[in-house]
Amino acid sequence: MPVICVEGIVTRYANYRESDRILSIFTIEHGRLDAKARGCRKPQSPLVNACQPFVFGQFEIFTGREKATINACEVRETFYPIREDYERFSIGSVMLRLCHDAAPENEPNEALFSLLYHSLSFLAYGKSNPQDLFSCFLVRYLNAIGYRPAITTCAQCGRDIRADALVRFSPRGGAVCNACVQHGEPVSKTALEGMRRMLLMEDADMDRVKLSDGVRGEIFRALTAYTESSLEYGSRALNILSSLKDVAGQPQPTGEPAAEAPERGAAEPDEGNA
Ligand SMILES: [Zn+2]
Repeated sequence: MPVICVEGIVTRYANYRESDRILSIFTIEHGRLDAKARGCRKPQSPLVNACQPFVFGQFEIFTGREKATINACEVRETFYPIREDYERFSIGSVMLRLCHDAAPENEPNEALFSLLYHSLSFLAYGKSNPQDLFSCFLVRYLNAIGYRPAITTCAQCGRDIRADALVRFSPRGGAVCNACVQHGEPVSKTALEGMRRMLLMEDADMDRVKLSDGVRGEIFRALTAYTESSLEYGSRALNILSSLKDVAGQPQPTGEPAAEAPERGAAEPDEGNA
């Protein structure tokens, strides 16, 4: 019987039946993998702590002819402090969501996995501002999935714009020179240089990013607008952040946090595989 052992991070789940869940796990070895966890919502289940978003663990999975089933899991890290802070939880939920949507089944993306793992580690235990960490995650995420915005050269004419006095950031393509585009909000040299450095650093150095309030807003607005316009699932994922007051100027809601209530249908209930 084919049993595989994989390391991965739980990116989302869907409850079904009385006490089961179907988990999506972003694994190092196989990319995204959906597997059901029988009885994991019962308090006495050995899987009760493993079947939560953000959990990183080693999963033993039975891959029969029907849907894959989790036999056991050794939890390595829960990133628990993320759950204790609304802003961190929202940002972490967007990171999970974006990686879930980008990771194809049975196709590893080690760079993306490493980025998610380090980002969650710093979000839980690091010292940096969560929004700086998120911007750093986002520009590196776009790069890891092949959607890097133009930063050093104009997205339209390809000319090096590092010495230009006036540069704008277009949601379609990234940095553009004044000869190519004459409308839209200018972006500062400091913000462009910030994004350039974020792209060049190692994952393990992401906690060092420290932005001023003004540049933080500039980079955040530029990258989120770009993500929404470039990725078909971008708006839906980033919508989780719309309730953060420092980002969107709105009060915090009292509702259930987003990653705790994933849409149903993330995986098909499998009634015929008892
Ligand atoms: Zn140009």
